[in-house]
Amino acid sequence: MTLGFIRPKTVGELLEVLAEYKDGSKIVAGATDLLVQQRNSKQVEGKPLYLVDITGIPELAYINVESGVVRIGAATTHRDIARSTVIQDVAPFLADACLTVGSPQIRARGTIGGNIINASPAADSLPPLAALSAQVRLVSKRGSRDIAICDFFKGPYKTVIEPGELLQEVFFKVPKNPGNCSFLKIGRREAVAISRLSVAVLLDVDESGKITEAAIAPGSCLPMPARIVRAEETLTGKVPDEETVEAAANEVGEEMVRVSGVRWSTPYKKPVICALTRRAIWKALGVDVD
Ligand SMILES: Cc1cc2nc3c(=O)[nH]c(=O)nc-3n(C[C@H](O)[C@H](O)[C@H](O)COP(=O)(O)OP(=O)(O)OC[C@H]3O[C@@H](n4cnc5c(N)ncnc54)[C@H](O)[C@@H]3O)c2cc1C
Repeated sequence: MTLGFIRPKTVGELLEVLAEYKDGSKIVAGATDLLVQQRNSKQVEGKPLYLVDITGIPELAYINVESGVVRIGAATTHRDIARSTVIQDVAPFLADACLTVGSPQIRARGTIGGNIINASPAADSLPPLAALSAQVRLVSKRGSRDIAICDFFKGPYKTVIEPGELLQEVFFKVPKNPGNCSFLKIGRREAVAISRLSVAVLLDVDESGKITEAAIAPGSCLPMPARIVRAEETLTGKVPDEETVEAAANEVGEEMVRVSGVRWSTPYKKPVICALTRRAIWKALGVDVD
């Protein structure tokens, strides 16, 4: 195995490198997923592998809002997203989700781009991004393409990104009611815990208290990020009461079983995702419940 390390300084240089080495290159950002994978992977003898470090490219780390669209550069760390006053204002549940990732050290190195590309069903940034109807922008020497986040995944740890492509940014419209959102996660312990279950909720509520739009996206529940349309429809057009919220939350558990089947973990996961979703909906409505 040949191993080289390349550190481009601009996106232009990076795209040249990716176009030249394609399959023989691997982008590295914070390396918090990649290092673990490299250690476990069996490289094909003789196949060159170049690690292409993108952390020296300042134009890939940014958070900005322009014309009502929030753009987050792929190399932006979880720490910077969690601390960003922009994200705290326009999508506080994304800041909350990034704040639950790993430990301070992991958040300081791990990037949102790496989290998206790694495509773990337990990735914490993905439920809020799905609820926000975010899109990803992929660029290569051939041009660029934008893909809705829920269409970007082919399965657990699999995406539609092609050799030679870079994830440049993730972007989404500023929600109408950024305050009406929540992200809840449970892990096996209080800190440095991969999510056992999580859920992101984003609601649009009118002056009469009626929910006019609902977005519900669970994590660690389905093979890849998805919105639970039946749950969203259960809430839409209603002034929420206990019965409606419970019915919507139960739809999330039902969808998990419909998609993933009954597994050894279902007797635990189904009631817990229903309870977590119920709490998350009320939290998004500004009500704390048990
Ligand atoms: C101890 C520990 C705890 C963790 N806890 C959590 C947690 O609580 N929640 C959670 O969601 N994750 C967790 N993780 C996983 C990891 O930290 C995150 O997924 C992180 O966001 C990965 O980002 P990175 O920059 O380190 O990616 P890297 O490891 O550098 O890269 C990951 C993958 O993405 C590719 N890649 C990276 N950037 C780009 C790009 N811009 N374009 C194209 N391809 C790219 C790489 O080639 C690689 O395939 C944890 C990891 C560890 C080691």
